[in-house]
Amino acid sequence: MKKPFVSLEQIQEIKKTYPTPFYIYDEKGIRENARAVNRAFSWNKGFREYFAVKATPTPGILQILKEEGCGADCSSYTELQIAEAVGVTGHQIMFSSNVTPAEDFALAAKLGAIINFDDITHIPFFEKIAPIPETVCCRYNPGGVFQVSNEIMDNPGDAKYGMTKEQMKEAFRMLKEKGAKHFGIHSFLASSTSSNVYYPMLSKILFELAVELKNELDIHIAFINLSGGVGIPYHPDEEGCDIMAIGEGVRKVYEEVLVPAGMDDVAIFTEMGRYMLAPYGALVAEAIHEKHIYKEYIGLDACAANLMRPAMYGAYHHITVLGKEDAPCDHKYDVTGGLCENNDKFAIDRMLPKIDMGDLIYIHDTGAHGHSMGYNYNGKLRSAELLLCENGDVKLLRRAETPADYFATFDFTGLFQK
Ligand SMILES: *Cc1c(COP(=O)(O)O)cnc(C)c1O
Repeated sequence: MKKPFVSLEQIQEIKKTYPTPFYIYDEKGIRENARAVNRAFSWNKGFREYFAVKATPTPGILQILKEEGCGADCSSYTELQIAEAVGVTGHQIMFSSNVTPAEDFALAAKLGAIINFDDITHIPFFEKIAPIPETVCCRYNPGGVFQVSNEIMDNPGDAKYGMTKEQMKEAFRMLKEKGAKHFGIHSFLASSTSSNVYYPMLSKILFELAVELKNELDIHIAFINLSGGVGIPYHPDEEGCDIMAIGEGVRKVYEEVLVPAGMDDVAIFTEMGRYMLAPYGALVAEAIHEKHIYKEYIGLDACAANLMRPAMYGAYHHITVLGKEDAPCDHKYDVTGGLCENNDKFAIDRMLPKIDMGDLIYIHDTGAHGHSMGYNYNGKLRSAELLLCENGDVKLLRRAETPADYFATFDFTGLFQK
């Protein structure tokens, strides 16, 4: 059973000030989860979670995570600006970009971020912009397929990210010559994983590479960045990851591989987005139309422009009809938005309680890669983002777009006042 973190009564109250659709985030859940992550890796002295800003690029959210000791993983100019705006700077920023424009590198360098080079050719490119920092990171791609007990988790050989092993060696050699003193290794091999062994398996690959690079090049490996990829149980039948078991699994590999190599000062970094936020955000919409043709349809005031994951990946997002939590799920619906695109469906053939017009629909686990993937197709406007504070208050983190925002990039002076 998946339970909303707000009740129908709370949403009805909130709706008086902030009309649907809107995103709402659960401060208490975010904080408790961030503390659990820090606890799971507390065995490692330098541990830091760098929240993947692209998952939820909302300053109010970053602020909370900053208070819980997290840094920011940025990959673009504006993500760097968001980090700077909430006072996350210097080595609290990991700049894990790819196909990076010069301006982005310039801002990252100015903020003193840790630069994570996606490619060996980025080193001379960066040098034209700023001097090579003393602490640097390179992104590794081992190629081939990434398997966990016979199950293929992902296909690094087809991924555009990172460098080959030979390039990693060459890059570190080059960086050392140019004055770098502390090195990090980063890799992201599988997304949305459900197994507690993903981080430990990735650790083994990266720790062994770290030992090899240290011995061959006589360099100081300061950190290993396990990046993101830890999944959450979107479906009620799925079992979630156990972050304590994951932390413990990484510790074991650390003691097997790094400690005997005399590398017991290596910090572990993560860049989780989904695991940090997805369960602690919901998209709330109202049922505004019903339609009975060859199938039964429920139309919401939200659409794929508010939440793209179902349309883009066929992703499952659990739906609760608020106030009908205990009603039998004896109606089969397609729950849709109003885009002129037939893939604009939040759910297909979903068994739900009978939905009446005006019912409030709670779409679960949309706190990460939800609002941030929004877009303006069909001239649809992006919704507000609210925070349910620990004390029960509701705070506006981002207002809803207005037509004036939509038209802001045209010069229609005077025509489109709101
Ligand atoms: C997207 C991304 C993440 C976060 O991924 P999640 O699936 O949200 O954990 C972390 N690091 C990098 C470089 C990314 O591109």
